Amino acid sequence: MANLDELCENVKLGREYALLGNYDTALVYYQGVLQQIQKHLSSIKDMNLRSKWQQIRQEYSQEYENVKGISNTLSSFKTDGSYPQSHRPVRGAAFEEPTRDPDVWPPPTPSENPRRNAGVSRQPARDQRPAPSDRRSNAPRANPSNRGPVARSNDAKRPTDRAKRVDKSRAASPKRQQADESPKFDTTGYDKDLVEALERDIIQRHPNIHWTDIAGLDEAKKLLQEAVILPLIMPEFFKGIRRPWKGILMVGPPGTGKTLLAKAVATECKTTFFNVSSSSLSSKYRGESEKLVRLLFEMARFYAPSTIFIDEIDSIGSKRGTGDEHETSRRVKAELLIQMDGVGGVTGGDDATKMVMVLAATNFPWDIDEALKRRLEKRIYIPLPDATARESLLKINLKELDLAENVNLKLVAEKLDGYSGADLTNVCRDASLMSMRRRIANLLPDQIRELNQDELHMPVTAEDFVESMNKVSKSVSAEDLKKYEKWMEEFGSI
Ligand code: ADP
Repeated sequence: MANLDELCENVKLGREYALLGNYDTALVYYQGVLQQIQKHLSSIKDMNLRSKWQQIRQEYSQEYENVKGISNTLSSFKTDGSYPQSHRPVRGAAFEEPTRDPDVWPPPTPSENPRRNAGVSRQPARDQRPAPSDRRSNAPRANPSNRGPVARSNDAKRPTDRAKRVDKSRAASPKRQQADESPKFDTTGYDKDLVEALERDIIQRHPNIHWTDIAGLDEAKKLLQEAVILPLIMPEFFKGIRRPWKGILMVGPPGTGKTLLAKAVATECKTTFFNVSSSSLSSKYRGESEKLVRLLFEMARFYAPSTIFIDEIDSIGSKRGTGDEHETSRRVKAELLIQMDGVGGVTGGDDATKMVMVLAATNFPWDIDEALKRRLEKRIYIPLPDATARESLLKINLKELDLAENVNLKLVAEKLDGYSGADLTNVCRDASLMSMRRRIANLLPDQIRELNQDELHMPVTAEDFVESMNKVSKSVSAEDLKKYEKWMEEFGSI
């Protein structure tokens, strides 16, 4: 890893802030470390090493969830006035706020978040059925550590009017209750543990990433909209030669927004989102991997329209790893090919609600097996951000912070030429912590505890950016870029 010392330092700082009770700052460090680990993971080819880092990520993300849990509980105490009498925290008593359980998902309502309906006119057949996330209310309780922070958006935690109405009607009529039950994937004939593992680790209910959260990448956004939304809106048109793509491959350097794009597709198109990393397919469920692939597609069809996002697709069917790993990977690939042949966009005649789209991402396109490449018919390049995209990425990252008057984001963006989106995010994160670091330098923990929070929230200055830029270096070399461009010239489609 390029900067293990920095990672260890960030882990240490995050833990120290958590111990000091400064949860907001601790969480920033935790998120940063998780991203650093994620970035590192995407560059590891050795399967053994990769699975060790995955283990670390899992343990660390459990820790992150714990800190986040404490922080959420504390903020719920602060908003005491907004709770009904029965839910107000009682001094000294254990306080539980049921609707804040991150694993309890209220059904979305069209009025709840109009952006989520953008672009998709629901088909009549679909209107009669609950939305994908509706159908999941009976899902087994998931281990929170296995879902990314984006899966727990605040809007998803609030009980909606519709949820309340449903609750009332259930109380009034047990018969009605049965009719209202959301369809749930029937585990008969399947390995129940495996179904639960999928529900827990792989289905992400509310990725909650919108097109506007992603800077630049206009071409890619347009193409994905065309590939996923239009066939849902006009199934009649997307037939025969115009049939939707079986699979789309996003190619590009690490940290350029491929995962974000996949999440935006799922959010904006309201499809059920299956988020799979191919190394977890080959290692986590060792021995059951091809069963898992089969089940994944079965469930995707059941909860259709669905998007199956397969990250690090290059490691499927590759010749890397030990003999055993290679064998598992080969079987996973064979099953994946069979399943992909069975999807092909809209399956099941004209019923757009049956659409299953495979979206794959890779930082190593040259390692992708030929047969898989053929099924990933559309191959799009996700490049490093240009100056305009860098500026909007800075704005997205800094929208909640105060900037000093001497900050010119256009200039900052120009200086960050060659940085990936993830690098830029790291620069912003680091710059946003500078004033706090200065303020607490040489203070003892007790003195830090006494500090007024307002003193820590100082505007970010131009000098902070310069200092952070010197600390955070580019993660993608010019040589790497040439390799991507060459591959795209040969195999790409835009
Ligand atoms: P990839 O899948 O290409 O490796 P990700 O989508 O996981 O990259 O991006 C990693 C992080 O970098 C994101 O969580 C986000 O903070 C930041 N990022 C990268 N590209 C963009 C972008 N185009 N717009 C906004 N944020 C981005």
